[in-house]
Formats: sequence, structure tokens, C-alpha cells
Amino acid sequence: PMTDSNTALQQRVHRFESISAAPPDPILGLTEAFHLDERSEKLNLSVGVYKDAQGVTPILDCVKEAERRILESETTKGYLPIDGLSGYRDAVGELVFGNSVSPERIAVVQTPGGTGAVRVACDFLADQCGRGPGNPLTIWLPNPTWANHGGIASEAGLHVQTVRYLGADRRTLDFDALTSDLKADPIPGDVVLLHVCCHNPTGVDPTREQWRVIAEILAERQLIPLLDFAYQGFGDGLHEDAAGLRMILDHVDEAIVCNSFSKNFGLYSERVGAVSLVAASEDSAGCAHSQLKRLVRSNYSNPPRHGAAIVETVLGSKELTEQWKSELESMRLRINDLRRRFVEGMKATGCDSDFSFLLNQKGMFSFSGLNPMQVDRLRKDHGVYIVGSGRINVAGMTEKRMESLCDAVASVL
Ligand code: PMP
Repeated sequence: PMTDSNTALQQRVHRFESISAAPPDPILGLTEAFHLDERSEKLNLSVGVYKDAQGVTPILDCVKEAERRILESETTKGYLPIDGLSGYRDAVGELVFGNSVSPERIAVVQTPGGTGAVRVACDFLADQCGRGPGNPLTIWLPNPTWANHGGIASEAGLHVQTVRYLGADRRTLDFDALTSDLKADPIPGDVVLLHVCCHNPTGVDPTREQWRVIAEILAERQLIPLLDFAYQGFGDGLHEDAAGLRMILDHVDEAIVCNSFSKNFGLYSERVGAVSLVAASEDSAGCAHSQLKRLVRSNYSNPPRHGAAIVETVLGSKELTEQWKSELESMRLRINDLRRRFVEGMKATGCDSDFSFLLNQKGMFSFSGLNPMQVDRLRKDHGVYIVGSGRINVAGMTEKRMESLCDAVASVL
């Protein structure tokens, strides 16, 4: 037994003392710096949230109405099932797949946001589709991709590799490079992650014809598609944005889709998403569903209710669904209008650079072509915050600030 308390102290071993600090998240770190910036004319075009003309991320009217209804009818805060609300899961299946796949072949599991969906999907792939100890399954990510994809996949135990995606002009898809990498590098059974629409960070999507070729390669090479669908409705429309997904499911029997309601319902902080696994048969979908549930159980046990209840309420009511579609359309049209105004605004500054390529890009984001030095000067000299890669959140622009933004960009070019 220890008698001298000093001796006891000396013998304590501190395992946490040798841990060094992790680097700050490149995008959320910028937002912290933005909040500390005291200039009133500052503008944050870094983080991916939609903002209205007042620069506010609004709560949709259909969401407020659904919340009112939930507040009145809710009787319990008991746990949800491991895979979430069943009405929500049915609604996700319908919205994401339409009638392109029979519902019996789809296992939908509610997740905390699209991030949770990608994590559960990667856990499942590593756990169920791996090649045994010491031989991890490879996932191929487009270069560039959402900054979190690599981290999630490697934390889940997948081996991360990339295929070329963006052209040297940093404005268009290098389709030849993408398809030749897909044909040459992955081996059968590998996973290929693709953004279904509104590619983050570039805004550059394949055309329908290009999706057909991609789908043929996936089928021929026996690759597993992992389809990240975080912006349904922000590109060309709810149905139109799923064209690539439908094309792929015409060519292969198995895929995993991760979707999110953060953007299209504005439910960022409520953490609402789903992972949907498509199997070749009803029996396999059932087995995969049970494995997904097992992985969720040992991760966060079961998902939060509120956000999913909102989506379930809206999509379960004809009237609220119509209202949602019209509110979503307004967001989409507003972003397209901002793209047009920015391109025209840049023209009006008389600068040499032509920004009309932004008009072909989809969703919230675009690669502006600005280099890290120009990005730095925008922040230091003008209080305009964008990511070092030059990615701009178009949805963060406002009509009121457009002229000063264009002048600032022109002055750093
Ligand atoms: N995938 C992509 C491509 C994204 O851009 C995002 C959001 N930034 C997500 C997934 C995650 O979405 P959520 O906020 O719902 O976790």
C-alpha cells in the first residue's frame, strides 16, 4: 500500500501529456477568424450554407409549420429505432430513387446528417466488403473532393486513393482523365465515390452522356458506387439532379447512396441524412440492413428525432411538400441569379478575366480560379473570406454587396 502521497504523485503516468494539437479544420477555422474580424464590411464565402438577401440562413416556412404540428402532436421523447423513423425512411427512398429501383431492394437507415451517412457507409464497406486483415478495401475519391471524404474513409479503415476529376483549367471536368483512371486503376470490388450533383468543391458535374459512360465503366470493372447526394434540388431540380444516380442504377445492381437534408431543407444543425443501400435482391437488402443497424448500434446507438420528424411531416403532407418544393426552387433560382450577377459585375469592373464559366457550374460552390495569394489578399485587404483553394460559396454572396465584392476580386487579380 502507498503511504507517501508525494511518491504516489510521482508515479502517476500521464498518457495525454505527449499529445500534440491537431491542425484546425481549414474551412471551419476560417469561419472562426471571420467572427473575430471587426470590419463591418466583411463577407464570409467559405462555409457551405445558403444565405438569403439579408445574409441570413433562414428557416424554411414549411419547416416552421412542420415544427408547429410536431410540437402539438408529439407525446414522447423515447428512443427511435436504430434505423430511425420508418415514415422518414420511406420518404427518403421515394425522394432519392423515385421508382427507379423496387423498394424491397433498398435498405434505408436514418443517420446524423450526410456526414453520418458517409461514415456509416464507409464502416459498412470496410466491415462487410473488405478483403481480410492487412488488406484494406480501396476507395477511389475524385480529385478534388469534399475535404472530409478522405478523413472519414481512412478513419473507417478504407485505403484512400484518388482519380483525376478537374481539368488543368480548374473550371471543367477532365472526362478523359477521369474515365481512363477509372478503367486503369481500381480493381474489381473497389469502391468509387461520386457526387451525384453539385460537386463540392468545384460545381463541376458530368453531363448525362458522361454519366452513361461512367456507369458503363463501373459495371464493366465491377466497382461499387458510393454516391454522395448532399445537394438534391440545388442543381437543376429534385428529379433532374438524380439523373446520374438513375443512370448508374440502370447499369449496376448494387450501390450505396448517402443523402442529406442539411441544404435542401436548411436543417444544418438538426443533423438529418440517410444511408441507402441498394442490393440485387430483397434477401440481401435485408441482411445488409441488419449489418448497417449493428454498426450504428455500436457507434451512436440510434439517431436524433427532431430533424427527421420535420422531413417526415413535410414529405407526408401534400400541401407542405408543395410549399417545400417552391421554397427549394427559390433558393436554387437565387443562387443562379447570384452567379449571373457576379459574372456581370466582374465584366463591369473592366478586368481582363472572364468569369462566365461560373454559369455552367451547379450548386452552391464554384472554383473561382483565384490562387492562394489572391485569396489571402482578399481576406487581409477586403475582409472577404474564401477557402485557399479558391472555392467560393456563391450562396454566401448578397445582391447588396455584389459591387464591392466584384471590385475587391478585380483588385487582387
Ligand atoms: N457530402 C458533401 C459533398 C457535402 O458537401 C456535405 C456538406 N458539406 C456533406 C456530405 C455532409 O452534409 P451534412 O452537413 O448533412 O453532414
